[in-house]
Amino acid sequence: MKPIVIAEGTPEERWREWPEPARWPELPLTDAGTPLIVAPHPDDEILGVAGLMATLGRAELVAVTDGEASHPGSTVHSQTDLARIRRAETDEALRRLGLGDDTVIHRPGQPDGKIDEEPLVELLTGLLSPGRWCLATWREDGHPDHEAVGRAAARACAATGAVLLEYPIWTWHWSTPGDTRVPWDRAWRVPLGQNARKAKRAAIEAFPSQIAPLGPAPADAAILPAHVLARFDRPYEVVFRPAVDGGPAAVRNKTDGPAQVRNGTAR
Ligand SMILES: [Zn+2]
Repeated sequence: MKPIVIAEGTPEERWREWPEPARWPELPLTDAGTPLIVAPHPDDEILGVAGLMATLGRAELVAVTDGEASHPGSTVHSQTDLARIRRAETDEALRRLGLGDDTVIHRPGQPDGKIDEEPLVELLTGLLSPGRWCLATWREDGHPDHEAVGRAAARACAATGAVLLEYPIWTWHWSTPGDTRVPWDRAWRVPLGQNARKAKRAAIEAFPSQIAPLGPAPADAAILPAHVLARFDRPYEVVFRPAVDGGPAAVRNKTDGPAQVRNGTAR
């Protein structure tokens, strides 16, 4: 994994100046069905694919952890408090995206910071089926939990014939435009309309425990300050789709939806 270090990360202005994303193909949503969204921590699903969920108006969520380790040493909240608060924040965020009250959320309650891949593969395999979309954090996103979720989703998709789409989160922080460690040649855009962007902003605001300090102590600082959130206010979202036989260029030249694509273990 790449280290998530540090300071400010790549400023959003640099990403906005990069012309390449405008050339990435648009992801056709016709075969999206009710996608299975897999989030390592409460808020990852919103940062990564809230616009997609708002556009579709439906999703099923696997909230792998309750995110209880976001503020080790907090002087305000215990880990039990944080887990409860963050679960409620996710519920509210999905409501703000316009998803129905009948939206299914699976909460296996895995430990934040120590996701165990094996039981997750088992859970996802039971929920996926051929052609179903599975959106998970990218296997090389640079956070151990995000990478474990990506690997588990890739294995479950390979076993079931589901369609794997990986969304980057911390990649926007540690990488830079054109970074050769990132599979830009597999990037697809999900353009967001005004309503979807508005819903996404409202959903992000549903996470005060992450976007605002819990208190004045350094251990209670915001996890997602404004310069980080700026990366998630773009008019599009990005997913990586695994290469298939013939390579990404061959896939892109087809007009088929992603449900036509067989997933393998290709990166
Ligand atoms: Zn996360």
